Amino acid sequence: MKFEGYNFAPTLKRNLENLGFRKPTDIQYRSIPPILNGEDVLAIAQTGTGKTAAYAIPVIQLMSAKRDRMENYGVRCIIMVPTHELAIQVTEVFEKLIVEMGINVIGLHGGVEQAPQIKRLKNGMDILVATPGRMFDLASQGFLSFNSVEILILDEADHMLELGFITDMQQLIRRIPKGRQTLFFSATINEHIKDLAYGLVRHAVRIQISPKDPVSKNIDHSVAFVEMDDKRFFLERIINEHPESKMLVFVRTKVRAERVAKALERVGLKSQTIHGDKVQDERSQVMTHFKEGINKILIATDISSRGIDIPNVEYVVNYDLPEVAENYVHRVGRTGRGVQRGVAVSFCSTEEKPILDEIESFLAKSIAVIGIDKREYEETVDISEASEHDWKSLIKESNAQLAMPKKKKKKKK
Ligand code: ADP
Ligand code: MG
Repeated sequence: MKFEGYNFAPTLKRNLENLGFRKPTDIQYRSIPPILNGEDVLAIAQTGTGKTAAYAIPVIQLMSAKRDRMENYGVRCIIMVPTHELAIQVTEVFEKLIVEMGINVIGLHGGVEQAPQIKRLKNGMDILVATPGRMFDLASQGFLSFNSVEILILDEADHMLELGFITDMQQLIRRIPKGRQTLFFSATINEHIKDLAYGLVRHAVRIQISPKDPVSKNIDHSVAFVEMDDKRFFLERIINEHPESKMLVFVRTKVRAERVAKALERVGLKSQTIHGDKVQDERSQVMTHFKEGINKILIATDISSRGIDIPNVEYVVNYDLPEVAENYVHRVGRTGRGVQRGVAVSFCSTEEKPILDEIESFLAKSIAVIGIDKREYEETVDISEASEHDWKSLIKESNAQLAMPKKKKKKKK
């Protein structure tokens, strides 16, 4: 069924059409009716399948069908997300869907000034998209009231119920009215988190699309065995072989993100980094540059592994394997979104093999291996090394070769 056939407010239908959304994706088709019905929902669907609109559309329809006068600083619907970038992104999706509907939305996240946010909250808000930190901050100062909350949504729900966030979520649930509707959305969930989620709601309807393979079918993903010290040469090669492609490169730490960027710079390749050590302005600017294609190579930590929806990311490179197995699914899920296809390549060094085993057991299948024969491996390293050297070291190298003419230079492993 197309959106046209749904019993939605005409303006909502028009806004969907303007976004180019003609018919619901699977998860939208299955989630919209129970949410409109007021039921609690636990929805699991692969990355890039339109989970945001799967809750946004029915929430907006509910808000427009039943107008409520709100007390000062009150909100009707809260959407919790783990990162600033996701708060911004989800707010933007709502903004596009509520055009001219007389419904309002606000995104709250740290790193920006509070005063304008407080001013907007004063007369009440229909929809609030927030990271827990800033939201609780404003609530404790009396600039946000939970008394009129009708719907609570946890996006990236499994992550929001993990150690770093669970006490905040429990506190929030204690503070909102008893009869509220609760929705959980994610691409991954484990048994423990599932139990936890069910413990927080009444009778959640469970919707799960393609439970067998958590990785989206739009993604061709494989692993290459590359040693730690050689990874930069292989990244350089991939970038050089796809000069026009947008590529998201995941590394394990903030320090490594900067190091990889430096290594690329040394061989004349431009990139930008995003991680938790950067101030919000810089993070936002980096995201905009990547979105608009001003910068094509973004080096990121796991802070950007979940939820981020950037068009035309053709490649995801796991420069380091993720330490948490489910983050593999989220990282590779930054490509192959909607109807697009994508490619993900992971570098696995000898010391990372146990992590690869964990990821494969989480996926319940093995990841295809890219066979690199010895000669090709050495060539990749050697060619890169040659181009990396400045003239001084080239002279030094040729001098050394003069001294030992027979011996080919090889990279230590
Ligand atoms: P998820 O949260 O499942 O990872 P998103 O909600 O970020 O996925 O959506 C992924 C992409 O699909 C977005 O770019 C979004 O605009 C697009 N999309 C969502 N729903 C539809 C639809 N019904 N028709 C066409 N495109 C859609
Ligand atoms: Mg999402």
